[in-house]
Amino acid sequence: MIKANDPSLKSWIEVQPNSDFPIQNLPFGIFKTQSSSPRVGIAIGDQVLDLAILNKLGFLDKLKIDNSIFTNQYLNDFIALGKATTAAVRELISHLLNEHTPDLRDNKEARAKVFQSISNVQMQLPVRVGDYTDFYSSIDHATNVGTMFRDPSNALLPNWKHLPVGYHGRASSIVISGTEIHRPKGQTKPNENEPPVFGPCRLLDFELETAFIIGKETKLGESVSTSGAEEHIFGMVLFNDWSARDIQTWEYIPLGPFLSKNFASTVSPWVVTMDALEPFRVPGYTQDPKVLPYLEYSGDKNIDIHLDVFIQPDKGEENLVSQSNYKFMYWTMEQQLAHHTINGCNINVGDMMASGTISGPTPDSYGSMLEISWRGTKPVKMSDATERKFINDNDSVIIRGYCEKEGLRIGFGEAKGKILPAL
Ligand code: CA
Repeated sequence: MIKANDPSLKSWIEVQPNSDFPIQNLPFGIFKTQSSSPRVGIAIGDQVLDLAILNKLGFLDKLKIDNSIFTNQYLNDFIALGKATTAAVRELISHLLNEHTPDLRDNKEARAKVFQSISNVQMQLPVRVGDYTDFYSSIDHATNVGTMFRDPSNALLPNWKHLPVGYHGRASSIVISGTEIHRPKGQTKPNENEPPVFGPCRLLDFELETAFIIGKETKLGESVSTSGAEEHIFGMVLFNDWSARDIQTWEYIPLGPFLSKNFASTVSPWVVTMDALEPFRVPGYTQDPKVLPYLEYSGDKNIDIHLDVFIQPDKGEENLVSQSNYKFMYWTMEQQLAHHTINGCNINVGDMMASGTISGPTPDSYGSMLEISWRGTKPVKMSDATERKFINDNDSVIIRGYCEKEGLRIGFGEAKGKILPAL
């Protein structure tokens, strides 16, 4: 077992039982304050630990990391140090925050310098995303969409169970949680017998997803095996792949989604490491038919991550509209990465690969309004008595996620975005 994952560990920092950030998590993010520039931080309870100051004060001396790695507006350079080093940082922080370690605990002056209240910091996009890929790997989601738009008896296309379907997305419009997004405009074809029209999207949707962040590059021509994939995956974030359904329906044939998806995607700020997620691994989906040898894998490669989606009308209450789980994924991250690189496509540190909408088998676990309202035929009641088929102007959508096992809970925080009227 990874030492920092020990469920019996306790920190001298007070952590509430429902906190996403106990000492067993220690996720990495980039934060700034009114008086400080962006830098690397770790979340613990309701505090953020400033690694730039911690390193400057000598607490990380034995790791010999240049402070420019921590006084950085992205995690890319830190992640590129390699898993041996980033894991050693997590282990050392775990040791420093341990209730029995006096070094920082009993140094009042240092403590005052290295901690910020999480409510006083402004979180930044954690990585500079070079490339972004979106998969389509939840069998329940793909089945629902195929049932609605094609043929219920042949909902999955012939390739679906043989390869993890995906497309190349747009990195420039990936934004940090809290960023407001204007309703996209575009071309749609509301009436089959009339020409297309232009205007604000009418069927704006969220997609409940997670994304993994590449931690080690490959060279052009190289492939990553399923057994070697984990070495290349640094950690995970929550991901909302905002989708304009009416634009999508008209534009997507033959090359797939384009402007219906690339106007914005919202990510959560804290990158939860694969090390921290290790205790929550569960067996993967039974894949039938058998996959080709390069997609075969061994071990428990799915992860039990509980996922919630809320819609919050302007100044209103949060309404829970979906409770799903990452474990419903048919294709694992290891398979996605093996498939992505099998042709020699190279990957870089900071690349983001999203899961695709994560729907479970029951209607309360569907990961998009398209499915929850079943194309608008089953409106959802909000606590203020209004109804939603899709997302209204001034609604916020909030995704939260956490793992829980035998009393230990680690979480991701949230990915929140508010929709403003079209410009
Ligand atoms: Ca998607």
